[in-house]
This record gives sequence, C-alpha cells and structure tokens, in this order.
Amino acid sequence: MKYIFVTGGVISSLGKGITAAALGTLLERRGVKISLQKLDPYLNVDPGTMNPYQHGEVYVLEDGAETDLDLGHYERFTNVKLSKLNNTTTGQIYETVIQQERQGKYLGKTVQVIPHVTNEIKNRIMRVAESSGCDILITEIGGTTGDIEGLPFLEAIRQMALEVGSDHALFVHVTYVPYIKAAGELKTKPTQQSVAKLREIGIQPHVLVCRSDHPLTEEVRAKLSLYCNVSIEGVIEELDVQHTIYEVPLMLQKEKLDALVCKYLKLDLPEADLTDWKAFVEKIMHPSHKLSIAVVGKYIGHQDAYKSIYEALTHAGAFLSCGVEVKKVDAEEIEEKGAETLLQGSDGILVPGGFGSRGIEGKIEAAKYARLHLIPYLGLCLGMQTAIIEFSRNVVGLTDAHSSEFESMTSNPVICLLEEQKKLSSLGGSMRLGSSLCKLLPNTKAYEAYGRDTSRERHRHRYEFNVAYKSLLEKFGLKISGTTENGELVELIELENHPWFVGCQFHPEFQSRPNSPHPLFVAFLKASLEYRKKTHS
Ligand code: GLN
Repeated sequence: MKYIFVTGGVISSLGKGITAAALGTLLERRGVKISLQKLDPYLNVDPGTMNPYQHGEVYVLEDGAETDLDLGHYERFTNVKLSKLNNTTTGQIYETVIQQERQGKYLGKTVQVIPHVTNEIKNRIMRVAESSGCDILITEIGGTTGDIEGLPFLEAIRQMALEVGSDHALFVHVTYVPYIKAAGELKTKPTQQSVAKLREIGIQPHVLVCRSDHPLTEEVRAKLSLYCNVSIEGVIEELDVQHTIYEVPLMLQKEKLDALVCKYLKLDLPEADLTDWKAFVEKIMHPSHKLSIAVVGKYIGHQDAYKSIYEALTHAGAFLSCGVEVKKVDAEEIEEKGAETLLQGSDGILVPGGFGSRGIEGKIEAAKYARLHLIPYLGLCLGMQTAIIEFSRNVVGLTDAHSSEFESMTSNPVICLLEEQKKLSSLGGSMRLGSSLCKLLPNTKAYEAYGRDTSRERHRHRYEFNVAYKSLLEKFGLKISGTTENGELVELIELENHPWFVGCQFHPEFQSRPNSPHPLFVAFLKASLEYRKKTHS
C-alpha cells in the first residue's frame, strides 16, 4: 500500500485537484488500482449547505454524499469508485472526536488536536485505503500551505509518512511560479517560501509540480531544486493548458511525473497507455462542427458553479466531433432584458439545477423561448421544474402555477415538496440524494437517447413534479418519459410537438465521462446540431 499526499502552495485555484486526478489517470493506466481522497480543512460537515459562490459546484456521488467538486475531477479522470469516505472535512473529524469524547472513549484524557484529531485524520485516510482495496491512495489536502486550519492535516500526513516508511509515502507539492512581466522572468521565491513552511512542519516534498504560464528554464529548475531541496527531476512543469484540462495527464506524462513517482515508490510498472485519451483531446482541439449552447443560471459569474455541466457538454461535444461554445446567461438578466436579447442565436438552451427564487422567472422565460422557437432544451433538476411551471402557465392556462419552494401560497403547486421531506427540519444532507433507478418509457425521446429500459441516475432535490397535475398536463402535450421504479415519482418529462425538449429530475452531468458521455447530453447536442443546420442553411 502506497500513499501520495498532494499539498498546495502559494495561492489557491492552481488546479491541485486536476493535478491529483491527472496523476491518477497516469498511475491507473500503468495497471495499478488507485483511489483518490480529498481532505477539506473547513468546518462544514460537507459542502452541501454552501453557496456555489463560496465553493463552486456540489458534486454528488452514487451513495448520495455531497462532496467537493474535486471529486468530480477524480471520477472523470479515472475509473475509481468514490464514496462518502473519499471526502473528509474538519467538520466531520471534530464531529467524530466530540462524539467519542461524550461517549467517554478517551478514558478521562484531555482531548487534543495532537494526537486525537490527527489520529482521526489518519483513521480516515486508512479507511479509504482499506475499503477501496487500492494499491496507491492519492490524498489531496485542500487549502494552501500556511493556512491555520490546514495544520492538523499536514501534521497527520507527516506522521503517516513516518509510520509507513519512505518507500511507501510521497509528498507532491503543487505550487505557483509566477512570471513577472516587468522583470521578464519567472520567480521562484513564493515556492521557496511555501516549501520552507512545509519543512517547518516536518514535510520535505519529493516533487514540485510548478504551475506557470511560462515554460520553466533550466536555470529556474535548478534554482527550485537547490533552494527547495528537491531533485532536479522532481521539478515538474505544469503549464496553463491551451485548450482543455484533459491535456494535463499528457503534459505530466511528458514531464515524466508518473515515472518519477514509480521510481520513488519502488514500483516497477509498464508505461501508461494514453492512446484513447489523446484521441479524445484531439477531438476537443479539432472539432468538425460548432455549436452555441446557452446555459441559463444564477451562478453564471462563478467559473466552477456548473463545472460538471460544462464538462458533460465537452464530453458529448467531443463524441459528436463538435466544439461547444457555452454562452453563460444570467437568468436575472433575462428578467431585465427579455429572452430574445440574450438567447437568440443559441443552438440549444440548458437550464441547470438550483435553489432559491432569485432568477426563477428568467429561467421560466428561457424554457418558454425554447418551447416557442423549437430550440432544443435540456432542463436539469430545477431546469425541469421551471419547464413544467412554464408549460402549466402558458400552455395549460394555470396562470399562477408555481413551485411551492418559491410560492408557498400558490393555488397551483405543480412542483411540490417530496412526501418524505415534509417532516424534516435540518438542511444538511437531508435532500433526496444519490443514485436510484429510473424507468424509461418507450416511444419517447429519452428512451431513444438511452436505447435501454432503465438507467441509474444521481439526485439532489427536495421538490418534485406534483402528480395531481399529471393527466391535465398530459392532455396538453407534456409527456412523462421516465419515472422511479415504482412509477410514483416523475423523473423525466418531454414535450410533444417539439423537436427535442427534455427535462430530468436527476443530474446526468455527474455521470458523464470523457470517453463515455451521458446519453441525454449526446441527444441534446445532436438535436442542437440539427437545429443549427436548419437555421444556418
Ligand atoms: N430546488 C429544487 C429542489 O430542491 C431543485 C434542486 C436542484 O436543482 N438540484 O427540488
């Protein structure tokens, strides 16, 4: 059992998660079983209660765990099966330690950060190693070296490395090497200081992955090696990608990161075969077609808020050899300026999931615009709910139709609270979460997209289509194309008399992979290509 610990230096947002995931790609393709884990130093028990502006997307796993978006990268870059064990926060660690203290498990001792908190961190690392049966566990520590809240995690991994021995643990430090334009040179000092901070704690990194927008010169490499006490081959360059994050494994392979990791960990493994990966990247870089897809959301300004959706569009686009230009449209702006101004020229319209009433009317307008102009529409979770509200109001004539999430007094709650949610009072981890079976109904666009009778899909919601309105809406041309196994909850809807208008209550974006795009995204883009062909001819 080998452990790789990935830390971050200098600044956040360096793409540490992508680096960890890309290292995972390379090692997995050398034939070892790997797993990946993220340790987040914040006090929230999980990111489920955090605003996407704070934290970016909440990524949902099959078992329903609401996790950090880096777990999305891990699942997309590798074949690992992740569970709630793979994302641990300080909140979870303290929750356990305090519970154990209340149960008297510490036998009268003073409960302290060292050893009790650090032991619990080590337990969490070991639990993933054991339960996943992996040969190599890559553990990423969230935050940046120097953060106060990260200290117990760094202390825990220092202890672990000592316990498992030098051939079994490796420290990879992802750092930033800025190019200073005025001086015309790359600067190594921030990295030197970040490594000095690590060494103060007792961690000597073996590898520096240097994020930079300029290639590292031999001189810079030598300087980093000397001042940071890292071998020259341990200085790895990771430049800003030209086109796509999926270039990162290729870049790191060229820099021989995986070969070095194998050398340090005394692993004799064959080279990683990246043929299919290269072909996938090639398709992203040289598409034969183009598409403009509008994503209408309320967190459009935040790069990471709809991460998995953007990735799923890239995967499906590559599959169809088509470059997807995402037009990020702020739902509130539609309310001010009208749908036509912001959505005209789009080949497809996608409305993602969300919570809270801000921007809702803009999303409803977007669904209306797609319906009336016969533009392909994909509504995800809230995007399905807003499409149903729009249809009820403007086609069926229930002018005050709404979701009881936004208008508790509406006389037509076409979207209402799930039965099991009615008795719940706490917000954390209490939605309908995780994977469950969706029955696909024949003679529907959804069925055609999947080409099979069932699909397992991940959920994260409290509200649902109110089935009391089912037969009325069906009379006007709304089709139910997927339900839960017992047929009770509506999972997929579509519109008759429209080329492709589909809404799903689940989140297909979490299951899309580079070389296995999600069928709904593929069908949506196919329909968008058709639409573009028609409108551009
Ligand atoms: N707010 C809606 C609900 O709770 C939709 C959730 C979502 O889009 N993830 O049902």
